[in-house]
Amino acid sequence: MSTTPAYAAQSADKPLAPHAIERRTPGPHDVKIEILYCGVCHSDLHTARNEWGNTIYPCVPGHEIVGEVTAVGHEVKSFEVGDTVGVGCMVDSCGHCDSCKAGEENYCENGFTGTYNGPAQEDHANTYGGYSGQIVVNERFVLHIRHEGDLAAVAPLLCAGITTWSPLRHWGVGPGKKVGIVGLGGLGHMGVKLAHAMGAHVVLFTTSPGKIGDGKRLGANEVVISKDPAQMAQHAGSFDFILNTVAAPHNLDAYLNLLKRDGTMCLVGAPPIDSPHPSPTVFNLIMKRRGIAGSLIGGIRETQEMLDFCAEHGIVCDIERIAMKDINDAYERMLKGDVKYRFVIEMQTLKSEPEAA
Ligand code: NAP
Ligand code: ZN
Repeated sequence: MSTTPAYAAQSADKPLAPHAIERRTPGPHDVKIEILYCGVCHSDLHTARNEWGNTIYPCVPGHEIVGEVTAVGHEVKSFEVGDTVGVGCMVDSCGHCDSCKAGEENYCENGFTGTYNGPAQEDHANTYGGYSGQIVVNERFVLHIRHEGDLAAVAPLLCAGITTWSPLRHWGVGPGKKVGIVGLGGLGHMGVKLAHAMGAHVVLFTTSPGKIGDGKRLGANEVVISKDPAQMAQHAGSFDFILNTVAAPHNLDAYLNLLKRDGTMCLVGAPPIDSPHPSPTVFNLIMKRRGIAGSLIGGIRETQEMLDFCAEHGIVCDIERIAMKDINDAYERMLKGDVKYRFVIEMQTLKSEPEAA
């Protein structure tokens, strides 16, 4: 075991604060990683504040990790000390169920192990995530990072990137398809970039008039202010696919009405359990055989495909760098939609904190 500094929430109503944790000694198949950057996902906030009702404390969030390999177990073949690597939302799965065999560990029938708040791997009750100095992960859940240049802007691909890539690919987004992205936050801005790179006609739906210019710069062909019924009505019955990233409850019918016959809206945003979306109207679905679906992150194989696609096409995230000690302010700003478009923690700021030593 080795001790590493981290930031943890000790309960739902407490701010995150320094908290040293233990990491296991690498086993034969483990990779030990010095964490350089960790993105700040809205799921971190939902979990730190127990908004999904399943948080185990202390909770060390963070599942958009980029770092450098500092040690490898003797059986590890595909990583070497010094490699730049990533870790996303999972650190283990059963490996033998149908989903795992299909490379969709994110749907492991025995439940994957989340990078944080997952079942115990070490000598404590739950897994601890990337708001920490180091992490030890089984090589099956470590990704190769092949980007040149700014690695901080790569980190959010490990969740925001794959969570939008996977449904865009699954529902066949590409040339000739009209695709809506709802919400320009961490996930939404990657949805816009990726759908654009896949060749679709992209329409961004935002509640924030101040984001119109950014939406177009990021790759949207059109931007619709979703609070304006007249703008929404112009798009009635016209979409093949809509990816909804909004973290708060809202009226889903407003978007279902915009789908064509056989169109699908996929929800990836996950509101707190005590404030769900109002139920959509059944008639909006049955009259045009419309579908409403969900999608959870993505498998390891497709995460590597997404990372390689982004490296090849020069795609990274638009980020604001923060120091570890500013995480609680970052959460408040994220709740106000005031982030362009992902906070990324520079992890050396944690290591230099005297109280975290
Ligand atoms: P985020 O950066 O906070 O972005 C959410 C965006 O939703 C906001 O920027 C805002 O964009 C829009 N929005 C519209 N109405 C809102 C309202 N009433 N309150 C707050 N935001 C509103 O969050 P994120 O990190 O992209 O995560 C989005 C959601 O996806 C979260 O619930 C997160 O837990 C979930 N998630 C799911 C998965 C999965 O596997 N399914 C993976 C990661 C995250 P505009 O200003 O443009 O309206
Ligand atoms: Zn996430």
